[in-house]
Amino acid sequence: MKVAIITGISGQDGAYLAQLLLSKGYKVVGVVRDLNRKLTGLEYLGIHNQVTLELCDLWEQASILRLLAKYRPDEIYNLAAQSSVGLSFEYPIETIKFNVVSVLNFLEAIRLYDKKTKFYQASSSEMYGMVSELPVRISSPMYPLSPYAISKASAFWMIVNYREAYKLRCCTGVLFNHESYLRSSNFFVKKVIVEALKMTSDPEMVLRVGNLKVRRDFGYSPKYVEAMWLTQQNEVAKDYIICSGASILLEDIVHHVFSRLGLDTSRIVIDKDLSRLTDIEDIYGDNSEAKAELGWDYNLNFYQVLDMLIEEEIANTQAGQHLTTLRPNGQSGHIHIPR
Ligand code: NDP
Repeated sequence: MKVAIITGISGQDGAYLAQLLLSKGYKVVGVVRDLNRKLTGLEYLGIHNQVTLELCDLWEQASILRLLAKYRPDEIYNLAAQSSVGLSFEYPIETIKFNVVSVLNFLEAIRLYDKKTKFYQASSSEMYGMVSELPVRISSPMYPLSPYAISKASAFWMIVNYREAYKLRCCTGVLFNHESYLRSSNFFVKKVIVEALKMTSDPEMVLRVGNLKVRRDFGYSPKYVEAMWLTQQNEVAKDYIICSGASILLEDIVHHVFSRLGLDTSRIVIDKDLSRLTDIEDIYGDNSEAKAELGWDYNLNFYQVLDMLIEEEIANTQAGQHLTTLRPNGQSGHIHIPR
């Protein structure tokens, strides 16, 4: 039985990846930083009893070495990160420290323990930032526009360096935005769907959003985790762009959701305070290498994804099932400031 370790298992991708790996017969070990917290994503997918949870402090290399010695994993998927661009402007030091040091700790631990261990790092399209060419390819120049993007770019180059210098079996997937029902509600698409749904029964409520005149390449999380697994099965350790291949205007997303729910667009309020300090205007990637070399079959356009997400949200709301993503201190469950 193959053993896979997933960090960030309490997040959106962690839950879907665990589900995928379990379906493929893996023993799945999920790394958490608090064993008492409810793992809503795993529970929602009905797999919380099938995953072995392990407390591990990713700030400490010794903890990671103990983790490797205990489970002798074939594959590691490193999804844990302070993943919000917005929060990275508020907490730049914590974001950069955690998102870089945790990756370095893994690479060093693998180098010392067993160089054959396969390591996958979740990189981000945000690294490319102010793009000079579209579509983005892996070799496109990087110009990160936020502390989050800078942290992911640093981690990306560490992976490249450890692969070249120490021949580690490590690689990254440059993930463009991807969504699901399990997305934390402070991310744009989930926020729009959840709040728009509430607005259908509250005529006083409005939707407050930042700059809607930017375009992003959005996809569907359960399909993006398939690309993570395929990358680890590749004969060579190589980095891939994982994206839908097309960008969509944020305004069009809001209008689509409003139209599906019968809401008037006059209830959209643009709030400049919600705009980012520096933002990418338009970005989309080229997924042809991932499709050709990994056999990744992605063919959803984002309006199809939006319709699925709206339906799932409505069905769960009607069933009285809500993901509790709010913590007592009001922080979103998945956006967690590094300690
Ligand atoms: P989420 O925000 O849903 O999950 C992030 C995970 O990281 C959570 O499990 C969280 O744990 C964990 N984490 C955060 N900070 C720490 C910390 N200091 N110590 C230990 N664990 C921590 O992210 P997604 O699932 O959406 O994304 C997975 C990965 O992919 C991330 O690395 C993200 O940056 C990257 N990515 C995602 C994209 C997307 O569109 N979703 C696009 C590009 C890249 P806890 O629950 O304890 O807070």
